Amino acid sequence: PKRSALDAQDIGAHLHPYTNLAAHEDVGPLMITRGDGIHVIDEQGRKYIEGMSALWCSSLGFSHPRLVQAGIDALKTLPYYHTFNHRSNPAIAQLADRLIQLAPAPMAKVFFANSGSEANDTAIKIIWYYHNAIGKPAKKKILSRQRGYHGVTVAAASLTGLPANHQDFDLPIARIGHVECPHHYRYANPGESEADFATRLADALEQRILQEGPDTVAAFIAEPVMGAGGVIVPPETYFEKIQAVLRKYEVLMVADEVICGFGRTGQMFGSQTFGIQPDILTCAKALSSGYVPISAVMVSPTVYEAMAANSGKIGTFGHGYTYSGHPVAAAVALETLKVYEDEQILAHVHRLSPIFQGRLRGYLERAHVGEARGVGMIGAIELVADKATRQPFDPALKLGYRLAQYAQEEGLIVRAMGDAVALCPPLIITEAEMAEMFARLDRALDKLQATLP
Ligand code: PLP
Repeated sequence: PKRSALDAQDIGAHLHPYTNLAAHEDVGPLMITRGDGIHVIDEQGRKYIEGMSALWCSSLGFSHPRLVQAGIDALKTLPYYHTFNHRSNPAIAQLADRLIQLAPAPMAKVFFANSGSEANDTAIKIIWYYHNAIGKPAKKKILSRQRGYHGVTVAAASLTGLPANHQDFDLPIARIGHVECPHHYRYANPGESEADFATRLADALEQRILQEGPDTVAAFIAEPVMGAGGVIVPPETYFEKIQAVLRKYEVLMVADEVICGFGRTGQMFGSQTFGIQPDILTCAKALSSGYVPISAVMVSPTVYEAMAANSGKIGTFGHGYTYSGHPVAAAVALETLKVYEDEQILAHVHRLSPIFQGRLRGYLERAHVGEARGVGMIGAIELVADKATRQPFDPALKLGYRLAQYAQEEGLIVRAMGDAVALCPPLIITEAEMAEMFARLDRALDKLQATLP
């Protein structure tokens, strides 16, 4: 294909994240130039339904006038200031206060950063700082889960349990370990119920803590619903049983709400949907509908009090980013939270999610759809070679990737994760738009299935 000048610049100079670098010149960039509601538009003027809210972020779509105006007003008033050494700004003070009100468990304070990775990196540092502060310097190990996704900084990538984030990066770092992924469809024993599977995973966690030494295990981190690992909804009773183990050994519970936060699972936080009582909670993405980079870390009163006492001794809490509490990001995030309320986004999700989940489950009637899973407005379908045995397709066939390509040809952006394909549309999607989204996915599946034996 003939390349535009823009494409040539991109190919020539842009080192892309999460991209097959060797193939970029051949594949070329999908140059997105504009957003409009649930749609994004490329340089040829082709319009796509963004079935993934881009990277699970843009809950209010790509052109919400109130968020745009909040950003403009903030840029005109105070485009930048910092929050070190007792400095603050009106928007960040109000945002912190609002997040404490919304929190799914009692939280004392909110720390701000710019990305999910930084929020989780900060959570790790807080966990270590806290245990030093309470005189337990040996209690530093953090357990996360295989296929969990927590970001890509050196420490957050170590928490992440996906091979591509470790391989050839010399990760994970020390003191971070991984336990089993709670994907019932893939990892349950034949005939094992969800509850029994959850019991087995909680027992395995307890064995792991005992093997590591309870005095060395500081925290456990989990996404309420795993996102990038394949949209894995926890089996019944999972978090209840996991948290019972954590409490027994005084291991902190960290909820990574970077995807689940702000309505995605049907409640304000995934922690509410799944009965999680976090000591530390991280969020990002839909905090600003993705319009500006901002993330947050909430800490419980117990954790905060020890941190405050310790920083009083040292003279400072020696952690913070130049852009922690950025006033423009804070203003847009604050407005995002107001829009969730004013437009009754949670009520909208309650009304639409049964239809969304019903449409996903409907794909189980197709020959090669082995599992359809999800909750609220997030879901996935997984393709298998044999539905009875759950035998996967040969990975070399790249079926998930091909399905995503066919969907793109049909004007729908979805995300392939192995042979699963995820949907996580903007929460503002209407019923009619949702019908159109599924019609496009239907056609993409028809095309793919026509190529299968
Ligand atoms: N945690 C979760 C659950 C995520 O899904 C992501 C990103 O997708 C992150 C953390 C990392 O966020 P970021 O890419 O903003 O660093």
